[in-house]
Amino acid sequence: MATIKYIFVTGGVTSSLGKGIISASLAKLLQTRGYKVTIQKLDPYINVDPGTLNPYEHGECYVTLDGAETDLDLGHYERFLSIPTSQANNVTTGKIYQSVINKERRGDYLGKTVQVIPHITDEIKRRIKLLGSKQKFDVVITEIGGTVGDIESLPYIEAVRQLKWELGVTNTLVIHLTLVPYLSASGELKTKPTQHSVKVLLENGIQPNILVLRTEHELGIDIKKKVALFCNVDLDSVIQSIDVSTIYEVPLMMLKEKLDVTVIRKLELQDNGPPDMSYWKKFIKTVKNPKHKVKIVLVGKYVELPDAYKSINESFIHGGAANDCYVDLHNVHSEDLNEENYVEVLKDYKGILVAPGFGDRGIEGKILAAKYARENNIPFLGVCLGLQCAIVEFARNVLGFQNAHSTEMSTKTPYPVIDLMEDQKGITEKGGTMRLGGYPCVVKKGTKAFDAYQVTKIVERHRHRYEFNNMFLKDFEKAGMIASGINPDTNLVEIMELTSHKWFIGVQFHPEYSSTVIKPHPLFVDFIKATIS
Ligand code: GLN
Repeated sequence: MATIKYIFVTGGVTSSLGKGIISASLAKLLQTRGYKVTIQKLDPYINVDPGTLNPYEHGECYVTLDGAETDLDLGHYERFLSIPTSQANNVTTGKIYQSVINKERRGDYLGKTVQVIPHITDEIKRRIKLLGSKQKFDVVITEIGGTVGDIESLPYIEAVRQLKWELGVTNTLVIHLTLVPYLSASGELKTKPTQHSVKVLLENGIQPNILVLRTEHELGIDIKKKVALFCNVDLDSVIQSIDVSTIYEVPLMMLKEKLDVTVIRKLELQDNGPPDMSYWKKFIKTVKNPKHKVKIVLVGKYVELPDAYKSINESFIHGGAANDCYVDLHNVHSEDLNEENYVEVLKDYKGILVAPGFGDRGIEGKILAAKYARENNIPFLGVCLGLQCAIVEFARNVLGFQNAHSTEMSTKTPYPVIDLMEDQKGITEKGGTMRLGGYPCVVKKGTKAFDAYQVTKIVERHRHRYEFNNMFLKDFEKAGMIASGINPDTNLVEIMELTSHKWFIGVQFHPEYSSTVIKPHPLFVDFIKATIS
């Protein structure tokens, strides 16, 4: 078997330069060239996973099919590559320390002093290599979160240094991403931050092999030469990453910059010829010049931070392209919606999505949005809490169940139409204890959900503790809100829809986690279609 190649992606100068997108773009090019590639994210924070983080802190929490709560970059990896990631694709300092401390308690270290080097770095290396060895990949790309020079990323950088040494120069590669700022006063692009950032890496024993320079303006050959000279890299290893209008253009930009060619040469991979990116190009063309345009509103409570609903935003791009349509997605804060203004605020939208969420802040605004959609025949997609809000609304306003609610918001409601799942009762720990990951669902034929999926057996990803209370199912179905998707093993309601409405579907799961460029999610595709027609 051929040796597995390891590529490490580090970042310097500032955070948010798009390491995840660069990693995913390189992976896409390599994948299209026929290599089996996966991407892993190492996050230097102490939370065991981002599941307990407020979205304001860290953006969306992305959920893998095998039920890991992970960093949102894993969403990019899946959207670009269309292959599932897993528990092993996201490692945090918390996870590393947890396993080292567990081993220490078991006595595995046989009386040794447990230290950052070698024990923590060994555990980091084990996690990096695990992904390669287990799943038969040709290339493993490991993105190191944070910025070089941060105290908390030091053990990761040290682990990379050791791996470079152990695995050899043709089996490892470090790609360092930095920023080349433009000073408008003097009209100059500045390379000094890049030089300093590479120096920090050098101080830690790592000579980067490739530099990707994020910039707002064309760099030109002179800047590239200067960076190559000061940072000891080949000229063709100085790659420009100029701002583009959509992240999906980045693979094409990296193709133009020949990042894939340089990587293949340096890693001595067998060259399978240039990648066929025609599908991707077609997708970009549609995204940039769509025939239709439709205004849809997302009602949620984390709308100030666009990253909080990352996967939903991206699903609209994929689903939009499938309909040759640009989805002009607006956000409305659910706390800003009330009885007085909701009609005025929502009246111009062709579709309404009520977002997932936790707790009762802004809940009545979400319920009003569901009401408006139901009463006015506006296409509606409720995701997780969004479904639960639609159910509460229907119970109160159609079934006449006064003060119906979810027991998450009101433990004393006389009509607990949404209730804690049986197996959640008694759980007190917050981390990783929700109903997480893929569960099967059977879609009923003859429903709108079936029209969208065109199959009866589906698997969708979950992240919740509450569910529809089956005690009330008959009442709902009699009044025209039917369960169109059921978990065959547990009988939990997974999809509900209104029979006498243009398109009104709520789902207990998260379709947004599994929408990709190549496979846009059927519910988003169909929802957008309903808003156009
Ligand atoms: N808070 C709800 C629950 O736990 C919905 C969760 C969500 O929207 N992801 O069931």
